[in-house]
Amino acid sequence: MRAAMRTLTGITVELDALDDLRRVAARALGVAPDDVRSVSLARRSLDARGRRPRWVVTVHVWLHSDPSDVATEAPNLVPTVGLGATRVVIVGSGPAGLFAALRFADAGVPCVLIERGGALRDRHRRARTLRAERVLDPECNLCYGEGGAGTYSDGKLYTRKHDPRVRDVYRRLVEFGADPAILVDAHPHVGTNELIPVLAALHDFLVERGVALRFDTRLDGLALVQGRVVGVHLRSPGGPELLPADAVILATGHSARDTYTWLAAAGVAMQPKPFAVGARVEHPQALIDRIQLGAMAGHPSVGAAEYFLTCQVGGRGVYSFCMCPGGFVIPTPTEPGRLNVNGMSNASRGNHFANAALVVTVTPEDFAPTGRALEGLEFQRRIETRAFEAGATDVTRAYSAPATRLTDFVAGRGSTTLPERTSYRPSLTPSDAGTVLPEAVTRAIREAIGTFDRKMRGYLTDEAVIIAAETTTSSPIRLLRDDGYESPTARGLFPTGEGAGYAGGIVSSAIDGMVVAERILAQGVG
Ligand SMILES: Cc1cc2nc3c(=O)[nH]c(=O)nc-3n(C[C@H](O)[C@H](O)[C@H](O)COP(=O)(O)OP(=O)(O)OC[C@H]3O[C@@H](n4cnc5c(N)ncnc54)[C@H](O)[C@@H]3O)c2cc1C
Repeated sequence: MRAAMRTLTGITVELDALDDLRRVAARALGVAPDDVRSVSLARRSLDARGRRPRWVVTVHVWLHSDPSDVATEAPNLVPTVGLGATRVVIVGSGPAGLFAALRFADAGVPCVLIERGGALRDRHRRARTLRAERVLDPECNLCYGEGGAGTYSDGKLYTRKHDPRVRDVYRRLVEFGADPAILVDAHPHVGTNELIPVLAALHDFLVERGVALRFDTRLDGLALVQGRVVGVHLRSPGGPELLPADAVILATGHSARDTYTWLAAAGVAMQPKPFAVGARVEHPQALIDRIQLGAMAGHPSVGAAEYFLTCQVGGRGVYSFCMCPGGFVIPTPTEPGRLNVNGMSNASRGNHFANAALVVTVTPEDFAPTGRALEGLEFQRRIETRAFEAGATDVTRAYSAPATRLTDFVAGRGSTTLPERTSYRPSLTPSDAGTVLPEAVTRAIREAIGTFDRKMRGYLTDEAVIIAAETTTSSPIRLLRDDGYESPTARGLFPTGEGAGYAGGIVSSAIDGMVVAERILAQGVG
């Protein structure tokens, strides 16, 4: 018997009234609160447009007069073919690789997961040397290692993807320890300190279910026979190794430039794709709260305010990206002598600063004049080399980031002083961040900031700084795949996730990993 559940959408609720949803639902249905058997919050989003920010909620309601039943969500079952002796190797332990492995684990099909960086605990130790000691470990850092680029992130789980697997990703994260609020928040978020134990629980689950996890092991090549993968060339502390494989899920993210380079040399089909570059802007969070929330700034049930800004300048899209309320700007290079930055936060989003990337769309016409896929990597490298050199004004200042007050940036000059505090470690160098970026990009961001200040009065302030450079918003390359998600030039190779150009963000990458694993489980290989 199905429950007579009512779904009420678009109900406006005062900030303090979220704990009393029974009364809210009763009022909306025109019944007495005692007539309501139970209410569950299905979704909540903050509407901060008016003078008084409010929650807008969707609730499921059951009345005492309804037939009783328990609402359950159907488990997502994947049909499997007998994979027999098929050897499945997943490369990369970011969201795409981990969720692909989870699908195999659920189906009871063995697989091996290869990751160039370290397992969580080892990764913390090795990744912290960049911010603490200005030393980059090119194999294990804030992008490489267990959990991939998503581990030290803002943990935003919002995606525009409409796929039932979105809910599946949230449910699995909750199963591994994430806050169940992600099941109802319109902008779900976990934060680095919450993601790390979730990843540890996922690790244990995969091992228990027979997934072989191999860290500090890098994929260095494919063994191909007549255009079909028969194995993978690996390099681990034990030396080089050839591991037989029939299906390789390549989920290596968008930072692994060495990997793209040998894939291109091996004839794996790829093409350049549009992406976006720019810089991070950091404001005091209290200022963003005042602009966005007015009198409700600092209200405990609202938390740190977010923003999203966008406009067109000379035919190019300029927009804020990956905004991290109460977060930190962090260095995320994977190649020594180059610098790019990104943002992260903890679950409380309690830090003093708000940061966001301000980026401009660039297309292959901008960076790949000869149409070669690898030209996008060179474009990124040129910007990152300039950023490193502008920040490291002497040998003691490696990985200092070049920074400019927002007001100076808009005026087209560098800064000689910066606000006293910043979230960025190891340090900022007062500089002209505009000279680090391609001229057209700098010009577009400069103009956009005027528009953004009209949308958010007070956004343009000398308390804010622009920190260069943001170069890895998404992949500049797409690895081609056919309708069966397989590379047309290397059969048995399944390009997956953000690095392959089919996802952007934690959830969409996880979903791409699931989709590819489901395809292999359902149809086998070949
Ligand atoms: C600082 C930061 C903050 C972010 N914040 C958010 C956020 O709040 N919300 C959001 O949705 N997204 C965020 N992102 C983006 C998100 O992390 C990525 O979209 C997502 O991690 C991509 O998943 P993936 O599995 O495709 O690749 P990745 O997560 O990049 O994982 C790829 C893995 O492959 C490994 N690898 C690479 N080459 C090899 C090789 N040759 N052999 C073996 N292993 C290899 C790498 O070490 C890495 O662990 C953030 C990214 C960064 C860097």
